[in-house]
Amino acid sequence: MNNKKKDFLRTIVENDLKSGKYKEIVTRFPPEPNGFPHIGHAKSISINFGIARDYNGHCNLRMDDTNPTKEDTKYVEALEDAVRWLGFDWGENLYFTSDYFSQIYDYAVQLIKMGKAYVDSLSEDEIREYRGTVTEPGKRSKYANRSIEENLDLFERMKKGEFKDGEHVLRAKIDMSAANMKMRDPLLYRIRHAHHFRAGDEWSIYPMYDFAHCLSDYIEGVTHSICTLEFENNRDIYNWVLDTLELKPPRPYQYEFARLNINYTVMSKRKLLELVEGGYVNGWDDPRLPTIAGYRRRGYTPESILNFCDQIGIAKANSVVDVAQLEFSIRDDLNPKVPRVMCVLDPLKVTIENYEGSEELEAPYYPHDVPKEGSRKIPFSKELYIERDDFSENPPKGYYRLTPEQPVRLRHGYIITCKEVIKDANGNIVEIKAEYYPDSKSGTKDTSGIKVKSAIQWVSATDAKKIEVRLYDRLFKTEAPEGIEDLNPNSLQIIKNALIEPAVITQKPDERFQFERQGYFYADPVDYSDEHPVFNKIVGLKDSWAKKTKEKKVTTSKPQAKKVQIDGEVVPMSKEEQALFDKYTNDLKLNNEVANTLARDAFLCDFFEEALCTCNAPVTLSNIVVNEVARELKHTEAKELKFNPVHIAQLAKMIEEDIISSKIAKQVFEDMSKSGENPAQIVEAKGLVQISDPAQILPVIDEVIANNPDNVAKYKAGNNKLFGFFIGQVLKKTGGKANPKIVNALVKQKLM
Ligand code: ATP
Ligand code: MG
Repeated sequence: MNNKKKDFLRTIVENDLKSGKYKEIVTRFPPEPNGFPHIGHAKSISINFGIARDYNGHCNLRMDDTNPTKEDTKYVEALEDAVRWLGFDWGENLYFTSDYFSQIYDYAVQLIKMGKAYVDSLSEDEIREYRGTVTEPGKRSKYANRSIEENLDLFERMKKGEFKDGEHVLRAKIDMSAANMKMRDPLLYRIRHAHHFRAGDEWSIYPMYDFAHCLSDYIEGVTHSICTLEFENNRDIYNWVLDTLELKPPRPYQYEFARLNINYTVMSKRKLLELVEGGYVNGWDDPRLPTIAGYRRRGYTPESILNFCDQIGIAKANSVVDVAQLEFSIRDDLNPKVPRVMCVLDPLKVTIENYEGSEELEAPYYPHDVPKEGSRKIPFSKELYIERDDFSENPPKGYYRLTPEQPVRLRHGYIITCKEVIKDANGNIVEIKAEYYPDSKSGTKDTSGIKVKSAIQWVSATDAKKIEVRLYDRLFKTEAPEGIEDLNPNSLQIIKNALIEPAVITQKPDERFQFERQGYFYADPVDYSDEHPVFNKIVGLKDSWAKKTKEKKVTTSKPQAKKVQIDGEVVPMSKEEQALFDKYTNDLKLNNEVANTLARDAFLCDFFEEALCTCNAPVTLSNIVVNEVARELKHTEAKELKFNPVHIAQLAKMIEEDIISSKIAKQVFEDMSKSGENPAQIVEAKGLVQISDPAQILPVIDEVIANNPDNVAKYKAGNNKLFGFFIGQVLKKTGGKANPKIVNALVKQKLM
């Protein structure tokens, strides 16, 4: 408690202790074992167990197992695991509502005897109808007049299983015109012929939440029954049951707080179950899920989750917490704690031509925290790997890493400079030939006189270990996801051949690392083995979503586009821009120029990302965005644009699916930006669908050949340049609609 501001629940608890209302504080965490617990439950756990701890009381773990059809032992175990992992202990106090079934039944009989409960035989629909509305009172069932004897007899026979599901219910006799509709003779028991995972087949009737919960609290001696806001209207029943039964004090009281909601995810167990059973994720402990098991497997620490729960506080009004706050919490926890090591996710070979032999470089694990001791040796040799995107042949402005002109420091090692770029037949860079500066070794006095702008991670080719890395992103692409249609298709990226310095592999597995410049990582507790090490990304080093959402709000109309290009200054990218640039070049394979434009322009970047959610064709999309959309923005304000990212995605999709050519796409774009029609409509209405059928194209080719005998002769005599002439003619004659690839192949055939 100390100096932290007290929340309203603790204020109540303190007053109750001061007034002598209770001698000991007893709380409970009462989950229904029908799914794995999520971070919302973590909040409830931290409140209930936290209050008990702070006031020297105790907290019970109670499985609220009154619904036989959905519950299971595996969920009981998951709940126990979660509470324990968060660092709480229920001691002897593990309970099950099902253990109280006989006592609860006896209380029901007592209510019947008091004339306060009756067996109703209306159908479910009739019960609903009779309940009335908020503005109209309800009407009591004719069965409410049954005698106490008849009620006792029927209720006993319900218990014995003499009736079918739904034939009768037991109801409290309260007030059919109560303003609180929950008080209009609420249901206490219903018939359910179902096997219960603990009680077996003993019961054919099961108590409703409103009846079971208050009584379970009372039976256990709970003092403060803390639940979420949606139970506010149930509080009257809670009190009615306990008061009517004239139970001897002390008795519990119910208090409500706001449930935790987080953006970019779903929280209810029902929705989580859908994701798990539908195979949209890999089990309840999938690291993308907001389940406690998921966070645990991903590498979150219990401390980070508890700190998060503390920081968001206990409120009385519902709200949505930004998931960035949780991500902040784990970063904040790990930053001072975990060793920093080097891992290369997308390796590019570097050969240092003037280096022979090998050596070991001493490297501190905690380079930024002087007081923390610990270091390891990193093998250095002639052949290394660096991150592919830490080299750029045509660097964008502000690129700080290795280029043909710009040297870079190998972290904890030497400065190198690029001497030669080796490419394969397709023009892909496969190796860098480099030289190092012997006088530039880290940790010694650098006398090389070489200036660098940054240091990059690397591993020695002969010593590095291959690992699998699983990069997780948000499970949903929208802030308030409705359902599976909002899933983020890029929430999991698996990298099979990442390389890591050998020291990491010899550590004990249950450890977290910062892979320098990449993020925080954790050995996957399920799939990791010495032969096949697997690491999960816990969280990145910074919030890569923040910039996008923040700037979206600031960017009202004019995008502050290409300032950099216009005045020709070298403005270095911010860290976030750099991260985006890296992602675009590295993961999405965009070329440097396109990536540079997107990374530096928040509006285009958002636009592109949104479109990407609908059409996963990054190259095609980014070209449209950076060329067409950007051009349009030069003379139109963003909010006046007639098209949106989904339109652009549709356009890209038609190109991808060969429905239209890129050339026609430009024409469609022009139309779209004027009329605001969707691209499919335009293509349909104007008959722009690409012609790919040779039977339609061949006659056009024949015609072009027949009309140009001179050029045909020249081409056949060796003037290859004329090939383009024929293609151009054919495309022109089809109004640009012929599929250029097919035209190309057919013309080639014809002219042979
Ligand atoms: P869900 O809809 O996710 O299944 P629930 O409320 O039905 O949630 P229970 O197992 O009945 O889940 O909940 C156990 C306890 O945890 C209850 O006291 C409930 O109020 C609390 N709880 C559940 N979800 C949240 C949440 N998002 N934030 C805070 N507390 C929660
Ligand atoms: Mg529930």
